[in-house]
Amino acid sequence: MQCPLCNLELRIKGTRTVAENDDSPDKATVVYTEQDLVCVNKKCENYQKVVSRQRAYLIGTPNG
Ligand SMILES: [Zn+2]
Repeated sequence: MQCPLCNLELRIKGTRTVAENDDSPDKATVVYTEQDLVCVNKKCENYQKVVSRQRAYLIGTPNG
């Protein structure tokens, strides 16, 4: 994925694992890793800002 302002390739800044609905027995549990993508162009307004987030589902799907 590219920065919408400068078109430089975004870099992954942080990754975390998120669990949703794991305390709700009536909903399907969803677990995913979420990555923060930042621009690393110092001249860009988006420098070190989280421009986009990328999810990879480990359990479940975006729609449950
Ligand atoms: Zn940029």
